[in-house]
Amino acid sequence: MSHLLQFRRYRLPFRAPVRTAHGWWPEREGLIVRLEAADGAAGYGEGAPIPWFGTESVDEAEAALRELGGRVDATRLAAVPGRLPCLKNALAAAQVALPGTPAHPSLGVAALLPAGRAALELVGPKAEAGFRVFKWKVGVTDAADELALLDDLCAALPDGAKLRLDANGAWDRRVAERWLGRCVERPVEFVEQPVAAGARGADDLLLGLAHDFPTPLALDESLVSDGDVEQWLGAGWPGVFVVKPSLLGDPVAALARLAAARAAVVFSSALETAVGAQAALAAAFTWPGERRALGFGVWPLFADARCDGPQAMPFLHWEDVARIDPEAVWNALN
Ligand code: MG
Repeated sequence: MSHLLQFRRYRLPFRAPVRTAHGWWPEREGLIVRLEAADGAAGYGEGAPIPWFGTESVDEAEAALRELGGRVDATRLAAVPGRLPCLKNALAAAQVALPGTPAHPSLGVAALLPAGRAALELVGPKAEAGFRVFKWKVGVTDAADELALLDDLCAALPDGAKLRLDANGAWDRRVAERWLGRCVERPVEFVEQPVAAGARGADDLLLGLAHDFPTPLALDESLVSDGDVEQWLGAGWPGVFVVKPSLLGDPVAALARLAAARAAVVFSSALETAVGAQAALAAAFTWPGERRALGFGVWPLFADARCDGPQAMPFLHWEDVARIDPEAVWNALN
């Protein structure tokens, strides 16, 4: 059966520039694809590479789409090469329907705290709103200053709450060891990407730290491609896998592998539009393993609110995911 393939490339300013380990990120670039079947039914998917994550670029995805042309059949769609994971992801999502109501129709969401001292002021209001998992960006300002804030932050948490620390690879071994020593017996759920991915010896360092300290570590930047998932499972990674489903070429297969290995998975936003987020959240809601708070507390995110997913709340309900209308985003990008 042949489909009509269309796409729209977008460039969407964030409401406020996003601070990353690679500097300020002012706008999101990506592509929405639309596949229309002979009966007129349309499906949508999103290709949203993060520039420093090492997938294809938006230019490469767009060039491949132009080459595919307007009329495509399943064979051509399946032949998109693995070096274009975000595009493969988009085309796959556009071909599948949203699943029905899952067994657990609501999931907790982690509250995002700003870097540095500003986090202290936000914990109270977020706790009051009902959040019980908090994520704090570290490795942004001076390590000693941040470390001194950790106890204040832990003291400000409501009873039973957990803190996630995300260093985005900013630490070296020495700083990571100091932090992980400090995290012992504190309510830290995990420390995400303490040291950079891709550097020489980084994988061994991560494995060593994971074995030397009781606080779990989580892989984020180290986990980009379907192949990385396979490799870290093979290495017996004892910590958490932060999965951004939007960046995987075949999220269904990768998640099946993770589920079979009984891996600890945290689902995370790639700061995509509501189109990609709907597919990513469908993966999170159908995950058969332990349900951990979602890393999807990102909305409102875009200057153009029509591209946003549901507002960040302590719980995300499936009905809000199902209510996302990809066609509305497509039309907004016209
Ligand atoms: Mg992270």
